[in-house]
Amino acid sequence: METPTTVMRAYKLRIYPSGAQQKLIERWLGAGRWAWNHALERRQKAYRRRKESVSGVDVSRAITALKKTRRYAWLKAIPSSVVTQRLRDQDKAFAAFFKGDADYPRFKKRHQGQSIRLQLDQRHTKPRAYWLAGEVMVPGLGVVKARGTHPRAFPKMVTLRRDGAGRYFASVMVEEVAPAAKAARGAVGIDLGLAHLATLSSGEKITNGRPYRTARRRLRRAQRALSRQRKGSQRYRRQKQRIARLNARVANTRRDALHKLTRRLIDENQVVCVESLCITGLAKSKLAASVHDAGWGELLRQLRYKAAWAGREVIAIDRFAPSTRRCSACTAIGAKRSLSVRAWTCEACGAEHDRDINAAKNILELGLNELLPAGSGEVMRVEGDTPRLGAAACGRHRRASVEARTWQAIKPCPEQGAVA
Ligand SMILES: [Zn+2]
Repeated sequence: METPTTVMRAYKLRIYPSGAQQKLIERWLGAGRWAWNHALERRQKAYRRRKESVSGVDVSRAITALKKTRRYAWLKAIPSSVVTQRLRDQDKAFAAFFKGDADYPRFKKRHQGQSIRLQLDQRHTKPRAYWLAGEVMVPGLGVVKARGTHPRAFPKMVTLRRDGAGRYFASVMVEEVAPAAKAARGAVGIDLGLAHLATLSSGEKITNGRPYRTARRRLRRAQRALSRQRKGSQRYRRQKQRIARLNARVANTRRDALHKLTRRLIDENQVVCVESLCITGLAKSKLAASVHDAGWGELLRQLRYKAAWAGREVIAIDRFAPSTRRCSACTAIGAKRSLSVRAWTCEACGAEHDRDINAAKNILELGLNELLPAGSGEVMRVEGDTPRLGAAACGRHRRASVEARTWQAIKPCPEQGAVA
């Protein structure tokens, strides 16, 4: 039988640190912020003066040297992972920037939401402590009051976060054995949109809840009330927390809806095909607010990790594949159509298409074809609305076995022998 796969899973807890614990957390957050800003400054200076690029490792070495000086002796009292993890974050932020996926990293300010990560060590704590309801053990802090689902394994890492409203959270990463999942028989293509959040290749359309749009009026009113308060006053702080709560509710509503959808998609399908979207590119465009409100990025994130959990395959098709122009019935590539054209007729075969359903079908078919080895000369076609895959896909050779009834027959993987 298969060996059980372990997955990293994060448990998010709201924590309620005592006064002394809060002070410590704030000191760590301050150190994390200092490390981030210090590294960023070093990088910028080195680049400006000598056109040199500095890595997180370089900065880390420099900081270790600083610890020996009187002025930075306070660093010795900070858990070392607070600094190293922040440097690693910055390395990632720069990598994303150079790839064109993110903006240039900015300096961090005190009042913003902040986070630090603590790398844990088996010696530090007894695992038992993590199982108690209502509290969580954080090394260096001790037992902290907590609310949320508790992990049942020893954490590898704890992320402590304070949001803009001054609330504290701990995200506890644990390694867990993924529950053995039965293979699902379906395959689905998903076209993401704004009018509908998603259109499935089966023809089903998932409505877009747009939680932000719904809450917008209340948020605006709350923002106006905030601007009337004196900055720094008790009322100002309270109003600010009210706004943070409203924002959190919007995010929760969005996440809940997405969780239900992705759970269903993963339960029912062995293969899920999506477009690979340039979401940061879209997030800078005119559609930014709507794209964010629809939660495309979150949807893809959830699909990916749930698929990894359940042993499913998520295939992102080429961003430039002609999913809208292609006719899903005869594969002819038609003319470019503007977004306002919701339905069209194929000039080659006369098939009538709903724009989104056609796109979803194409995404499914193009995605499934990526399961085939290159140069095999075989093509997979979707015939009918709910195609079914055979019992199992040969994961090692990225090749699917397919029922001949609804699909054109695909030969079994040669290296695997018979179709599983
Ligand atoms: Zn056609």
